[in-house]
Parts: sequence; C-alpha cells; structure tokens
Amino acid sequence: MSNFLGFKCSICGKEYSSTDHLYACPNCGGNLDVVLDYSRIKSKYQVEDITSRTDFSLWRYLPLLPVSDPGGEGTPLRYAGWTPLYQSRRLCDQIGLENLWIKDEGRNPTASFKDRASAVVVARAREIKAEVVVTASTGNAGAALAGMAAAVGQPAVILAPRTAPPAKIAQMLVYGASVILVDGNYDTAFDLTIEASKTLGWYCRNTGYNPFTAEGKKTAAFEIWESVIREQASADRPLCVFVSVGDGNIISGLHKGFKDLVELGWMEQMPKLFGVQSECSAAVANAFFSGSEQIIPVNSTTIADSISVDLPRDGVRAVRAAVQTGGAYLTVKDSEIIESIADLGKYGIFAEPAGSTAFAGVKKALHEGIIQHDDPVLAINTGNGLKDIKTAMQSVKNAPVIEPEIKALLDCYQSQLRGSIR
Ligand SMILES: *Cc1c(COP(=O)(O)O)cnc(C)c1O
Ligand SMILES: [Zn+2]
Repeated sequence: MSNFLGFKCSICGKEYSSTDHLYACPNCGGNLDVVLDYSRIKSKYQVEDITSRTDFSLWRYLPLLPVSDPGGEGTPLRYAGWTPLYQSRRLCDQIGLENLWIKDEGRNPTASFKDRASAVVVARAREIKAEVVVTASTGNAGAALAGMAAAVGQPAVILAPRTAPPAKIAQMLVYGASVILVDGNYDTAFDLTIEASKTLGWYCRNTGYNPFTAEGKKTAAFEIWESVIREQASADRPLCVFVSVGDGNIISGLHKGFKDLVELGWMEQMPKLFGVQSECSAAVANAFFSGSEQIIPVNSTTIADSISVDLPRDGVRAVRAAVQTGGAYLTVKDSEIIESIADLGKYGIFAEPAGSTAFAGVKKALHEGIIQHDDPVLAINTGNGLKDIKTAMQSVKNAPVIEPEIKALLDCYQSQLRGSIR
C-alpha cells in the first residue's frame, strides 16, 4: 500500500491523494493514472528481488502494484497471470517472421486477459471493504470479476448485454455472481452500472473507469519484460507488441507497465505498441489515423464481441500508447479475424475472435511493411476460443457425418485429403 502515492489525471494533469476513492477525474472526467513511489521502490528492490520470486502469478509483482496482499492463497485469485509464451518455429516460418511469440491469456483462471484487472480490483475491494463489486461487461470482464470474486467470497454483480456469448454468461452464473442481462449493448450496460454504483454505493470495476484495472493489466507488460525483453537485451530492435483494442484499457495498461519499468531504470528500450481493431469497431484507430486524441463514437457491429465498443472508455490513453512508443493502429476485416482463428488453431492455439484479432493485425502489418521480417514480434491472444464456439465454427468446415463403416470412413478421409482441409 505504501508504494501507492495517488492519482494523476491523464487529461488535465490534476493530482489526487491515494486516500481519495476516485474513478474518473472529478475535474475533467479524464482517466486517472495511478502514481507510484518509484524512488521508494528503487531503494527497496533490485530487479533480481522481483525476478527471483517463486510466486508464478501476477502477484510476483506486488511491490509494483497499488494494493496490498489480498490473501486468498490456494484459490484461483492467486493464479491469475504468468501465462505461457509460445514460440512455434513452424508458425514463424509460415508467417515469415524470425521471431514471433504468442502470449496466451486464454490460460488465465477464467480464460481471458480480464483476470488480471479483476484480480487487482478484487484486492482493492477487500482493502476498502467494499460490500459489492459491480461491473459492466461484454462477457469476459464479468466472467473474470465473477471468478476472482468467488475465489475469495466477495459478492459481485454483473451487467452484460443479453447478446453476450452463452459460454461467458454460463461462467458468470456458475461462479455465483448476480448476473443481470440488459436489453441493450455494452455501452448501455456501462452507463447503468455507473448509475448503480453512485446510487447504491457499490464498488465499480468498469474498464476504463476504475483506475485499478490498468494496474492489473500492466502485469502482462512485466511478464513480457521478464521473459522476452530481458532475454533479448542485446537486440537492437525494439519488441513490437500487438494487441486487440476495444475500450483501450489493455493497451493502456501495457503502456503503463512498460513506463513503470523505464521509470525504475529496469528497462532501457520501450517496446512499440500496436493496437488492432475490427473495421466494424474502430473508434480508437480512427482517432489515431486522423492524428487526433478526439474519440468519436461509432456504431459497432463486429463479430468479435470482446472488442465491440461504440465509445471506448480509455481511448485517449490507448491512442497515446501507440503514438508515444512509435507503434501504430491497424484495422482488420471481420473475415480476417475469423480466418486467423483457424490459422492459430493449426499451431495448437485456440483463440476467441478478439484474441485472433492481434494475429490478424500482425499479418497485415507485415504485408503492408509496417513491420519487417526481422523485427521481434509478440502477439497477445487475449481470450480462449472456447468462449465463443459459434464464431470458431465459422472459421472451419463442419465435420462430415458418415455411416459407421470402414469404406465410408476411407472414402470420406480421402475426399477430405483431396479437398483443402482447413
Ligand atoms: C476486453 C478484451 C479485449 C479488449 O480490451 P480493451 O481493454 O477493451 O481494449 C480484447 N480481447 C479480449 C478477449 C477481451 O476480453
Ligand atoms: Zn482531469
């Protein structure tokens, strides 16, 4: 707790104390950055004090987080983060990159990147003794909050659009949260939770509203630093990190994590951050392309539900993440997102649509010369493919049904070999 100094508004620059219970900036409504006491951290910890820890979860970075230890040992809360990093030689060769890593956030306890934010928000909720935590969600944030809250017996309320994928709704319900579906989209659920939080005093987790979500998400940057950047210390080219963008809180969180490391003097070269959006939900990319920080809402229609957002709630910091690191934004077609599910599947990686979006962005960036074949590249698969099997099935052919006879099996197998098996 004592490394947590307070908040600073990312828009107007106004500073607030750590004892203020704040969401957005009371002065201008901007997103608040958490300010840490870097000199205190530096005086207490060396890099090795962190990297030699045997806690293989995001909690190994507790000294760099604005919360105190939430307890919950032995529960799923302690297993968020520290996700695997794949490097398939076959995949590198196939796509034409010397080094491509895939960080698989589908391996988190509730199978998406959102566990990082929810774990830290639940830790904060325990600290301030919140009775109820509420969130709006397209699905994953709700599943993650429900799961992390269930792990430590914290009551949670989830508001999601009634159109959220059934698997995500099933997760929330099974974890025992109060799940309420709204007859509207994510943006309408978002506004309703804020009203509920104000009227009922519930602690609100909303992405891009609660400043602690980005603090949880930044732990992925720490892991990328520990596992890739430090190992590549001699590399002359910065790592190019690709991630899909909806509200823009993951990319802002990654940026914050890397900035923390530079501030501490633990990392020299800032990686380049590349945000990938669907053409059918591109409010942040539009701002980036127009060279502005003004986020104009869109009417989102993408099939990738986790990044389907009309008005991104962390848009300004999301634009800055690419601008300030020399990265960029890319937009991809929904058809390319679907195709990328099957592409990754062939290497044993099952992504939900918003997860394969980052990989679709890598392919496009390479094709357009935005990155070169010898740039080190890391794409984040933000969510597990089992979250949305309806869309997964659109990336492959249906399995044939045969009579249970050996001749039928042979005929069928041979015709599959002749046709292109996806
Ligand atoms: C939430 C989410 C995203 C996008 O994160 P933002 O912070 O909204 O930009 C991407 N992929 C998955 C699977 C998600 O759940
Ligand atoms: Zn402000």
